Amino acid sequence: MEPRFVMDEKIETELLINKIISKTICQLNVSSKLVGRFNISKNILTDKDIEINIERLEASQFGIDCVRLQKVAIVVPYRNRSEHLQIFLNNIHQLLIRQNLVYYHIFVIEQQGLDPFNRGRLMNIGFIEALKWYHGFDCFIFHDVDLIPEDDRNDYRCSVRGPRHMSGFIDKFNYKKYTDLSIGGVCSFTRQQFDLVNGFSNKFWGWGGEDHDLANRVRYYGMNILRMENEFQRYTMLKHEQDKPNPFRRRILKMGKQSYHYNGLNSLRYRIIEHIDVGRLYTKIIVNLGHSIHNQVQKF
Ligand code: UDP
Ligand code: MN
Repeated sequence: MEPRFVMDEKIETELLINKIISKTICQLNVSSKLVGRFNISKNILTDKDIEINIERLEASQFGIDCVRLQKVAIVVPYRNRSEHLQIFLNNIHQLLIRQNLVYYHIFVIEQQGLDPFNRGRLMNIGFIEALKWYHGFDCFIFHDVDLIPEDDRNDYRCSVRGPRHMSGFIDKFNYKKYTDLSIGGVCSFTRQQFDLVNGFSNKFWGWGGEDHDLANRVRYYGMNILRMENEFQRYTMLKHEQDKPNPFRRRILKMGKQSYHYNGLNSLRYRIIEHIDVGRLYTKIIVNLGHSIHNQVQKF
């Protein structure tokens, strides 16, 4: 039998560890730097000026010290929206620094060439390449470049309870809450959740379909899409032309179920054209996805 004083010592150590942990885990509601709803900045700054903003903000955070539990990769699909990108970077870094919740890095995945845009493929590439960049990412936020969060109480983390649709209220739609089953715009997945659904479909070229397909995958694999009921999830959508809808999108969506297990992360093909680390601001990876017509003719 263990002598009693050893037991006491063990309990005391456990209590001490618990105390340290509970005291220092970063939490959304305890940061004094949160401002709640704010006016987003639509200034188009250079990388250098964004960096200066970030450094200034970080200096003012000095003294707030806590344990960041999640390591988040923010994946942004991208082509030819340079003004949006600068506005996005400036706002998102400031929000994440004010939240002070996680370690994060931003990956901008740029589609090369003139084929229709393939958002799903770019997201999948972002997931794979982020993990090559740093193996420890446990949370992935898939983020349109034109959606700018308006409230820093919007939780930029993942939930083990399920993938989360984060952009529930968008100014373009008069902040009408999403009622459909989509997960478009901004969403978060733990690494395991994204692996489980085999990522996005690779088959959607042009506007539409891939987000509904992802939502179907989530339900097919027995998970719920989480949505916050509160209005912390308000976003401004920066102005852009409507991209050409993919005429095949409904057909591909219908046929989706049979192909979840072989169309996604495990069937992804691409070529990296360029990999540019812009310091801590972001990493841009320019990729060649192959040709859309070829793919569609082959599969349908
Ligand atoms: N996107 C892009 N260039 C394009 C088309 C799309 O960078 O030519 C990216 C960008 O991140 C954008 C996202 O894909 O926010 C979704 O596309 P879009 O904004 O056209 O979709 P919508 O807002 O109409 O649903
Ligand atoms: Mn948009």
